[in-house]
Amino acid sequence: MLEKIIDQVFPPYCGICGKMGKKWICSRCYRNIKEKVKLKKIKITKNIIVNYLFLYQDIFREKILHYKFNEESYLYKTFSEIILKDKKICEFIEKFDYIVPVPMYIDNKKKRGYNQTELISKEISKSLDINYDNKILIKNKMNKTQSLLNENERIENIKGVYSLRNPEKIKNKKILIFDDICTTGSTVKECYKIIKKQTKEISILVLAKSNYRKVN
Ligand SMILES: [Zn+2]
Repeated sequence: MLEKIIDQVFPPYCGICGKMGKKWICSRCYRNIKEKVKLKKIKITKNIIVNYLFLYQDIFREKILHYKFNEESYLYKTFSEIILKDKKICEFIEKFDYIVPVPMYIDNKKKRGYNQTELISKEISKSLDINYDNKILIKNKMNKTQSLLNENERIENIKGVYSLRNPEKIKNKKILIFDDICTTGSTVKECYKIIKKQTKEISILVLAKSNYRKVN
């Protein structure tokens, strides 16, 4: 109800071309990107697979950067719609009991005003009727920005920064960890290892797979 009223006051517009309409991605823009959105997998360790939806390039890269760093939080609607329009992706997500977003450190979230992975997870969970919980997995401390570090530094930098709160809540549940970008996979791998202590069925879903470029 409230959402309907909000939609009338602030009608949706396409997050890609800006056209006003009924959706957060217009049919023309969706046609252009549709073929590039597919549930794909990549192995980051012997046992851990990351599912991703598109490559971190072109319009996707541009929009993720805007979403994260230009205060364009409304883009969560566009990314959520891209996910929800794809039947195969929805069927994959629906198998889980909980969707758990990769958390931000509280001060960083306050500074940005939102956690981009939380907004999308929440939106998807509402539409697909699965549980969403952003209080199970917690980021305990501020660390350096992963994208500025090399592969080994990333592994060290992420150690011990996450922990579980009320772990009994997810005991024996099927958990889907959600993040925006996967580069070396060290962040999602760390989250996976922590959740693994409580439950066996865990998968990882990210929006974009980025090619790792060596940092000097
Ligand atoms: Zn458009």
